[in-house]
Amino acid sequence: MSTHRPVITPKEDHGPMQTGTGSAPVPVPATGDLSVPTYDLTGVSKVYGSGATGVEALSDIDLRVEQRDFLAIVGASGSGKTTLLQLLGALDRPSAGTVRCNGRDIQSMGEGELSRLRRDVIGFVFQQFNLIPTLTARQNVELVAASTEMPAAARAARAAELLDSVGLAAREGHLPSQLSGGEQQRVAIARALMNRPRVILADEPTGNLDSATGAEILALLQRVAADNHQTLVLITHEQAVTEAAPRVVTLRDGRLASDTRA
Ligand code: ADP
Ligand code: MG
Repeated sequence: MSTHRPVITPKEDHGPMQTGTGSAPVPVPATGDLSVPTYDLTGVSKVYGSGATGVEALSDIDLRVEQRDFLAIVGASGSGKTTLLQLLGALDRPSAGTVRCNGRDIQSMGEGELSRLRRDVIGFVFQQFNLIPTLTARQNVELVAASTEMPAAARAARAAELLDSVGLAAREGHLPSQLSGGEQQRVAIARALMNRPRVILADEPTGNLDSATGAEILALLQRVAADNHQTLVLITHEQAVTEAAPRVVTLRDGRLASDTRA
């Protein structure tokens, strides 16, 4: 994380129930405005560590992702896929170059604004599901809206509706340990949708699932992203996806080796 930028504590952050993210929305282009790309990366590099032991995980990446695009990222282990997705998710900053999300340079955003970007604009789905084990399915989905202005009753209703939409209406009171891997990933997808993000980012979302369940999860991700007019960026090893995806970006040793459109 760079040290030359001030950490901005948003004024609206106070009170014990706040997660430190505040409630003011991050400005994004109108839903119908497709002229501003979801992502525009220029000359992006990422170095972990420094000096002789530094690892250049990404080198000089240029990448534009339009609103509502569906993009698959592939490449060997260690090629930089997760690093790239973390930059897209504003979970990390580039060592060099510019990452623009919805027209805004993430480097120009303070920590509070970055938190709101991650909460309101981006939905994440991880290989390990990352559900909170002590919370029920519905509580896991609701939680990500806890620091928003959505009233508690509306949060509960929306979480239940989302779980229904991913086929889990009968499981909303179950703990993650009482759910199969595929069901846990469905909860994670419902959670990713809770704050109506513009982008879904998924890092090997089927990596812990058998192939039949994985195929269902990928179909579900594609369906929800299309239904909600979301941009979908997916890291995957599944050949079926890379054959179906309209656009496939291949990383090799941190460089963009190919960018093909169907
Ligand atoms: P992939 O997701 O394609 O397997 P990663 O983005 O995780 O690749 O990693 C790219 C390179 O960066 C690898 O060489 C990896 O070891 C290195 N790397 C990833 N994260 C870190 C980190 N936090 N600190 C140091 N090196 C890292
Ligand atoms: Mg990875």
